[in-house]
Amino acid sequence: MTELEYKEIILNKFKKQKAIVNWFKLAIGKFFQLIFILLIMLLFTIPIFLILCFRKMFLGIPMFSSSTILGHNSKIIKITTFNLKGHLLKHFSLIYQLLIGQIHFVGNSFLSDELESDENILLISKFGYPGIFNLWFIRESTKIAHEGLIVTELEYLATKSFKRDLSLIIKTFPALLFRSSEQSYQEKLEIFDLEFDNISMKEGLTLIENTIDSDKKKKFFFVNPDCMNKLYKDDQYFSILEKADYIFPDGIGISIACNILKTPLLENVNGTDMLPFLCEMSEKKNYSLFLFGAKPGVAEKMKKKLEEKYTNLNIVGIRSGYFDWDRDSSSIVQEINDSQATILLVAFGVPLQEKWISENFAKLKPNVLMGVGGLFDFYSGQMKRAPKWMREIGMEWFFRLIKEPKRMWKRYIIGNPLFIYRVYKWKKKKNR
Ligand code: UDP
Repeated sequence: MTELEYKEIILNKFKKQKAIVNWFKLAIGKFFQLIFILLIMLLFTIPIFLILCFRKMFLGIPMFSSSTILGHNSKIIKITTFNLKGHLLKHFSLIYQLLIGQIHFVGNSFLSDELESDENILLISKFGYPGIFNLWFIRESTKIAHEGLIVTELEYLATKSFKRDLSLIIKTFPALLFRSSEQSYQEKLEIFDLEFDNISMKEGLTLIENTIDSDKKKKFFFVNPDCMNKLYKDDQYFSILEKADYIFPDGIGISIACNILKTPLLENVNGTDMLPFLCEMSEKKNYSLFLFGAKPGVAEKMKKKLEEKYTNLNIVGIRSGYFDWDRDSSSIVQEINDSQATILLVAFGVPLQEKWISENFAKLKPNVLMGVGGLFDFYSGQMKRAPKWMREIGMEWFFRLIKEPKRMWKRYIIGNPLFIYRVYKWKKKKNR
């Protein structure tokens, strides 16, 4: 949904809410909130306070740190948090603000008071409250592709409900596991000597746009832990990836590896999340797509679905990914070139798609050559994709494992721990 659509929902929703204030519900909510605050105080605030007292006495480390944030109705609030790295623990000092309702358990993220002049921020602060548990924290921790801070905050307000708040609290705990304590991002990251681009989804799309608009031809590949395990053993695949123009990091496993290497990942940029943005951009800029891959009939189904959703999208060709590599490749290249597609999506799975693109690179004419794995299966409905809440807690791989245990058990049950083990081994070897 767009920024504007979210804003409209928010305005309607809060108008309705004002009209029907249910005092009974409000009182029950306040009662449970009070009980919850007392519990937090007993379980966390008091023990943390005592530990920090000792730390101050023996090590001289300050107990608190202070800052100002933007509160409800643009009020600037001074907050004093515990001087700790952990997101939740440090905010358990805010008992007083929780009690007087300046800060909520679940709400928008703690926005900087310097953003006050932004029109969207004003709207967020008019209807929202800063919350210790917030959607932005989850999105940032699990690196799930998002449309930036403002849209995430608007999305929260537009979709806010008791159920959603509860699920936000639950989702925060796995998100804590994936959060990196480092918050400075490098432009390039390296795992197993392969350099990849540490960019956001938006930046990835700009790279695609620039490639087409400047009439260049570039290879865009995604790498996930399974790809990393494959390139660890497959020199040909490694050298193909080394020669790619852009490598995008895909999957929670890459984010965990980046945390281990202390070079945090900015965003999980995968083909499935990128597709809607790519289609919107293609509609606007009149780019054309060729869908090449998957079993017969799948690309066709995908084309139909895409054309229903993006009515101005120009899909100029489709082809299944099962063919005689040596005999048919040159006629397929010809077919793709004749279609005058600007973007070619190749979906044969890793590393076949990267190998085919590299072998035929010189002859292919589309500006963007992209390997997209199982994307056509997902989009055509052939294969169900994990629900958003599962992706938000970094469990998409688990969903795929359940859906196709026979094919996926090696990839995930053996592959995931093997990848992490190799990351540690590589880190030691590189003295990092
Ligand atoms: N595929 C293909 N040609 C082949 C082998 C596979 O088009 O020779 C397709 C297959 O039908 C599936 C995709 O490639 O649609 C691979 O999906 P997978 O889920 O393995 O991809 P990944 O996990 O690498 O994204």
